[in-house]
Amino acid sequence: MLTAREDETLEQLLSMLERFVKERLIPNEHRVADEDAIPRDIIEEMRGLGLFGLSTPVEFGGVGLNMSQEVQVAFVLGQTSPAFRSLIGTNNGIGSQGIILDGTEEQRRKYLPRLASGEIVGAFALTEPNAGSDASSLRTTARREGDMYVLNGTKRFITNAPEAGLFTVMARTNPDEKGAAGISAFLVEAGTPGLIIGPSDRKMGQKGTHTADVLFEDCRVPAAQLLGGVEGQGFKTAMKVLDRGRLHIAAVCVGVAERLIRESLRYAMEREQFGKPIAEFQLIQAMLADSRMEAYAARCMVLDAARRRDAGQNISTEASCCKLFASEMVGRVADRAVQIFGGAGYIADYGIERFYRDVRLFRLYEGTSQIQQLVIARNMMREAS
Ligand SMILES: Cc1cc2nc3c(=O)[nH]c(=O)nc-3n(C[C@H](O)[C@H](O)[C@H](O)COP(=O)(O)OP(=O)(O)OC[C@H]3O[C@@H](n4cnc5c(N)ncnc54)[C@H](O)[C@@H]3O)c2cc1C
Repeated sequence: MLTAREDETLEQLLSMLERFVKERLIPNEHRVADEDAIPRDIIEEMRGLGLFGLSTPVEFGGVGLNMSQEVQVAFVLGQTSPAFRSLIGTNNGIGSQGIILDGTEEQRRKYLPRLASGEIVGAFALTEPNAGSDASSLRTTARREGDMYVLNGTKRFITNAPEAGLFTVMARTNPDEKGAAGISAFLVEAGTPGLIIGPSDRKMGQKGTHTADVLFEDCRVPAAQLLGGVEGQGFKTAMKVLDRGRLHIAAVCVGVAERLIRESLRYAMEREQFGKPIAEFQLIQAMLADSRMEAYAARCMVLDAARRRDAGQNISTEASCCKLFASEMVGRVADRAVQIFGGAGYIADYGIERFYRDVRLFRLYEGTSQIQQLVIARNMMREAS
């Protein structure tokens, strides 16, 4: 396993990952989609490479990447099916960051090394059937009983729930406080009596990665599992986790867009109509150029926001700008890729239609495009007043 504090080591990590993506992941894309599962041997290789602990600090067994380094890794991982990235995504992001940012020392020591090694998979349970974009209206309760909390409620669309060993669960500890201040975060281990995982959801895309409902029925959790040991901080933790996650997702969008642009260009230069490669037609060139321009803009935005975060700046606005622009951008790039491939773009064997379906998710989770717009505008108004 590599650590990547130094630029030279980062270069090694990136070139090793590029090789892994090209030689192991891309050749298995169709298989993962057909079987709706990532092969065991590939999961083991991902563990061996340290991919589950990219953002976990070195002292807890991770690679210890800062944000600028992490987004460069995400650019590379984005070059293949998003399902591979999603498998390691929760351990590097929403499934571990709450513990890294706000966990007690004991919680960090207990869980981070196991998350970083990939021994367990982490999941983040915020969304509920009646609380999606309006997450602070969540209804799952955590009632204190002696030195235990008793959780009741339903979480929806929880990524990696079927595989997860540890859930970061947002629940209301203060029923009188209807908003964000009444919410706390808990670390709940899989197998805890009263924690029930529903059947995997049937999704539009990203086959190979799974989401499911997570139900809590009088699920008793020791008080020591309250994240950070403080009630009422859960929503703040969730928002901090999502700020970071949004930047990571934006970087993945850049990676996928760059892959699709490369494939579109190659196809356009090979495919001949009217006696010449379709890349010679200016209407095709316009699509290629627009995609290249937009992916480049997103790449620059992501690198800038990551640098600002590493410098200690609050990047709530920038993270939302990146997520909004990059996820919408990759949707347009995927649409143009289908167009450039013509009929072949619609046929599964070419893989382009799979990416078209896969990238649709990026505009929905970790805050829809509309929610990013609201965050940006609210921050603008706050700054101005
Ligand atoms: C595959 C997948 C994986 C997911 N993984 C996780 C996970 O691991 N953990 C987790 O907690 N959640 C997860 N989610 C949930 C995801 O974050 C939510 O689906 C998302 O936040 C949107 O919530 P919603 O689906 O309830 O839509 P809604 O909130 O009902 O939104 C419906 C529409 O209304 C719009 N809308 C809502 N409010 C406003 C407003 N104020 N102004 C303008 N428009 C608005 C939305 O933008 C959207 O277009 C996942 C979802 C999917 C599909």
